[in-house]
Amino acid sequence: DVSPEALHIEDLDVSYGQAVRALHGVSLTVPPGAVVALLGANGAGKSTLLRTVSGTLRMHRGAITAGGVRYGEQRLNGADPVTAVRAGVVQVPEGRRVFGGLTVEENLRAGGLGLHRRAHRDRTARDRVFSLFPRLAERTGQRAGLLSGGEQQMLAIGRALMAEPKLLLLDEPSLGLAPQLVRRIGEVVAEINRQGTSVLLVEQNAAMALELASSAYVLEVGEVRLSGPAAELARTDEVRRLYLGED
Ligand code: ATP
Repeated sequence: DVSPEALHIEDLDVSYGQAVRALHGVSLTVPPGAVVALLGANGAGKSTLLRTVSGTLRMHRGAITAGGVRYGEQRLNGADPVTAVRAGVVQVPEGRRVFGGLTVEENLRAGGLGLHRRAHRDRTARDRVFSLFPRLAERTGQRAGLLSGGEQQMLAIGRALMAEPKLLLLDEPSLGLAPQLVRRIGEVVAEINRQGTSVLLVEQNAAMALELASSAYVLEVGEVRLSGPAAELARTDEVRRLYLGED
């Protein structure tokens, strides 16, 4: 079963230790099959939100969470990354963290580890990655650390797709890329979504994110400041001024 379900976040609080409150009372929904954009300044809590959903927040000692996070029937708040991946929820971390010393092929294989799939499912997943990113198919034996920045981002997304996610969590996929590659990333996200995967997209490039998304949320110091249909948010003064750079 690969049909996406809804992600429901209700009244989520996350702190790092007693001192740093990163999220407060955040509620957010990703409807089945949707692209939802998450905007906000540096430090607003966007990565913390994605890490809570993907279970990778547990790697941060002292992180405390309260509130509800569930994907379909699966409770994710407090779950570990393997539980999230098995439920179909996979994160592409910020900063294209690929395994630089491993080859492209080995990086992709790592994305499917722990799923106990049959070999033909691995091949299907890999074929999908290579059809999205033909450049990776030409470089299977190359060490990932020698790829260009854009290729590493493609590999990071490809590695996540190897787990056949129903919901993909993307943290700043266009960060530091040239405009032409930013456009390419936008096309790739749209294509992944057309193939049936929901996407929760954190992006500094608000124009691109609002174009791709059906709905959007703006986080400000850990709280949802604005939310609604992406096209409506793109017309608000606040979003135009602060995120789209218009006056
Ligand atoms: P950016 O766009 O800069 O990545 P962000 O919106 O993703 O920002 P987060 O990385 O979620 O924001 O950070 C939210 C708040 O939590 C910030 O005040 C940050 O300093 C703090 N924070 C994040 N990670 C940790 C950690 N491991 N330990 C302590 N505080 C943290």
